[in-house]
Amino acid sequence: MSALATPENPLRVAIVGSGPAGFYAAESLLAKPELSVEVDMFDRLPTPFGLVRAGVAPDHPKIKNVIRRYEKTASNEGFRFFGNVEIGREVHPAELAERYHAVVYAYGSSTDRQLGIPGEELPGSHAATEFVAWYNAHPDFADREFDLSCERVVVIGNGNVAADVARMLALTRSELEETDTADHAIGPMAESGIREIVVLGRRGPAQAAFTNPEVRELGEMVDADVFIDPADCELDDVSRAYIDSDEADMTTRKNVDIFTEFSRREPEGKRRRIVLRFLCSPVEIKGDGRVESIVVGRNELVKDPDTGRVSARDTGERDEIECGLVFRSIGYKGVGLEGIPFDADRGVIRNEDGRVLDDEGAQVEGQYVVGWIKRGPSGVIGTNKKDAQGTIDHLFEDLEEGRIPAPALAADQASIEELLAERSPDAVVSYAGWEAIDAAEKGKGEPLGRPRVKFCTIDEMLEASRAPQGAAR
Ligand code: NAP
Repeated sequence: MSALATPENPLRVAIVGSGPAGFYAAESLLAKPELSVEVDMFDRLPTPFGLVRAGVAPDHPKIKNVIRRYEKTASNEGFRFFGNVEIGREVHPAELAERYHAVVYAYGSSTDRQLGIPGEELPGSHAATEFVAWYNAHPDFADREFDLSCERVVVIGNGNVAADVARMLALTRSELEETDTADHAIGPMAESGIREIVVLGRRGPAQAAFTNPEVRELGEMVDADVFIDPADCELDDVSRAYIDSDEADMTTRKNVDIFTEFSRREPEGKRRRIVLRFLCSPVEIKGDGRVESIVVGRNELVKDPDTGRVSARDTGERDEIECGLVFRSIGYKGVGLEGIPFDADRGVIRNEDGRVLDDEGAQVEGQYVVGWIKRGPSGVIGTNKKDAQGTIDHLFEDLEEGRIPAPALAADQASIEELLAERSPDAVVSYAGWEAIDAAEKGKGEPLGRPRVKFCTIDEMLEASRAPQGAAR
């Protein structure tokens, strides 16, 4: 047998998940002209790009420009896409290991973290991630219903997802209609009865996880005032000392400046207002059959002398906020895949720098992980570039040192095609199939001056995928 990663015996790699981490991993794998590498990328949806399509807020179209880079990767002749194939459903992870020299898991964090407070499951209390997926036309969430008729919504969390949700709820109809927001969401959001969006942070302004542009935007809404009680912006001694020190990071410092400026503003009488409240933890969600209010506990900040971490401590003081909807935006969480070692506490595949480890800590040869399912749900899209490169560097090191196992079955392109023809006849979407979906969505959007009108069901996507443009790949 010829050496691995040569034209006679190409290195065959499966990537599970087609979000940013998966695409950056593919880019790194295909970047070495001296090595012959073939990448097959799988996604459970017919459409690629993960959270760039189904997570990034529709009013942030520029963020989606990274797709051009992923398209370039997809144009590489060593790349194939298998959409509408769920690993763990149509194909078992062990069946990938039998057919590829290496498998890179890149499937992200598909569920949300729970608050663990009474009333969390009441109708009207939703994971923000589900609302985001709904307004982004994710087919699993298209038939969800969100009753937006109430006057006040509470968004729990001080991360960028909370900022996205608050902003999206405050957009006007004409702003929404310029975007690729799902058609089923535009009407309810534009005509909602919502007048106030309260965003709750359990720690203070100096601990918020928002990035600066996301905070700034909350103060630039066409038809929503931003409001912060000046008392809420006063920093405690620990935070003040941090902000005034050389250690303070720029993002935190700028956030505090922007919050302070917001707290000095006079309301302009816009139709809606976004209220930022700090040092408040949700204690209970109340309501008779659906959300009517949320009880919040007032916190104070305490610094751990050993770790330096500043955390929130309940003062025992309580406040009740009337509201009809609660969006819990306290982070995503990864889920395990049968047969793959998983750290359930952290919600990540057990790994060291991207090499999958078994429960005893030994490397599982030929298995790798990138992105949120490697490190947890943190960072912006670009963070995944370095993250994926790190893992693929290890994969290439393992290749050089002979630690890539020979697959049990034929490692050729036909092997997976035959399995899929058996498991999922006529339902697999190739990259050309995705290009046909893409063209159809853009075509529907064009006369309306919108970037695209998204399909919201798998059936619609499959139908559109069957009119492929260009060469099948
Ligand atoms: P995140 O940035 O981790 O924020 C989670 C927030 O939830 C934090 O404020 C956290 O507070 C709070 N929280 C956690 N547990 C809580 C509890 N029990 N009670 C109250 N609050 C609680 O997560 P995310 O907003 O889901 O975003 C995920 C990642 O995607 C982030 O890296 C984010 O920057 C990125 N993202 C980026 C963009 C963008 O670039 N425009 C848009 C969306 C998402 P503590 O800090 O006190 O833990």
